[in-house]
Parts: sequence; structure tokens; C-alpha cells
Amino acid sequence: MIRDLLKIIEQFVDILMPELTPYEAAMYIFLLRNSHLKNSSEIRIGKRTIAEKWGTGARGKRTNYAHVTDLLKGLEKKGCLKIGDVNREGTLYKVLLPEEIPLVKEKLLVVQETREEDYFTDPERRRELFERDKWVCCYCGDKVTEKNATLDHLNPQSKGGKHTKNNLKTCCFVCNALKSGKTYEEAAPFLLKSIRERKQKEV
Ligand SMILES: [Zn+2]
Repeated sequence: MIRDLLKIIEQFVDILMPELTPYEAAMYIFLLRNSHLKNSSEIRIGKRTIAEKWGTGARGKRTNYAHVTDLLKGLEKKGCLKIGDVNREGTLYKVLLPEEIPLVKEKLLVVQETREEDYFTDPERRRELFERDKWVCCYCGDKVTEKNATLDHLNPQSKGGKHTKNNLKTCCFVCNALKSGKTYEEAAPFLLKSIRERKQKEV
């Protein structure tokens, strides 16, 4: 239960909240508390009751009925709840958990895809790329080892380069420091100069 709650809070704050107005966010939490936290996905409540429960707010003005209606409609439009039938006890609202809301689902999918493409953070996948490049720096051709091998973002992260397989190249420390933040074209003169100097030292 606690674990579920933490996930709900995380998804709410990280993904859903930016899509809602502050009042919609507060209304959503209010509905969540009165549905899922009472072990039901639904709540039957009158708008007047909501307005009363919401109290007077910071400016001492009682929450207005029309405002409550707008918030509920706004939340329905954004897929956070479904408005059902009305009877004497009020209107039936089906409250969706963050992970059930279409716009949250879409964003979660994007996050997952990004994670799947990530060859930069996971040590095993990094190794896979070093193997692919035969443990050789793609700029100077020097051998690299487990200790000094780095991965260079061909298109730098600062310019939108991703952690994808094709954007990552095995690179030695020195070349990576020179290439850092630059495109290959921008870095080429520095890389060539440094490589020339390093080769001369070897001779
Ligand atoms: Zn190098």
C-alpha cells in the first residue's frame, strides 16, 4: 500500500501535475483521497459538499459552486476522471489513478523507451559498445582498457545528443576531454593537434 502510494505521488508530481492548473491538481488530490484511499475508484458526492469541504481558502472566500464545476470538467477533459450519473446523493465520479490517465501513460511510455535506448548509464551496455569498437579510441586509435575507456557522445548532449548506441563511440580520456561538448567538426582541429603531439612524443 505504501509502495503504491509512493508511486502515485511520484507519478502525480512528476507527470500529471505539470499538465493541471494548481486548482485542478488540488481537486484531483481531494477526489483521490475520497475514492482510492477509501478503496474504491468511485466517489458519489454533490458539488455543494465539495465546495464546503474545500473550505474558505486563503482569501476567506467560500469556494464557489461554479468554480468546482469548472475544475471537475477540466479534470474530465484531461482524462483524470469520468463523470457519471446524478442522483439525490450527488454525482458519480470515477477517479483514475495517475498510471491509468492517458496523458500520463503516454509520458511513461516515452520514459521507458528512453531507458531502453540508454547505452550510457548501464555498465553492461557500455561494455557492449567497447567490445563493438574493439577497445580502441575512435579518434586517436589508441587502445583503451576497462580503467580508462570512456564513451563519447558523437553529437554532444549539450546539442541534444542521446545515449543511443549509434551516438556513442569508444574514446580515450584525452580525446574525450578535447571533444567534450563539441561536434566532431568543431573538435577536429584540437583533436588532430593533440593526436599529432602525442604521436611525436612516442617517437
Ligand atoms: Zn583518443
